[in-house]
Amino acid sequence: MPKTRKKSDFPQKICATCGRPFAWRKKWAKVWDEVRYCSKRCRGNRDSTTAPASPLTERASASRTAG
Ligand SMILES: [Zn+2]
Repeated sequence: MPKTRKKSDFPQKICATCGRPFAWRKKWAKVWDEVRYCSKRCRGNRDSTTAPASPLTERASASRTAG
């Protein structure tokens, strides 16, 4: 039985900002479907793409207005 699977069988994605592949993280377990950036930095650097804000991220930015 050909079992050519690597130890790290985690899924991967391509960062929408830097274009680099990044691997699955445990902290993304619940939101992996929406993860598009390899890091917070890339997430904030997105200016060319005009994607609508996800409801999940809305909560995080809500605290900023409270100041
Ligand atoms: Zn990136």
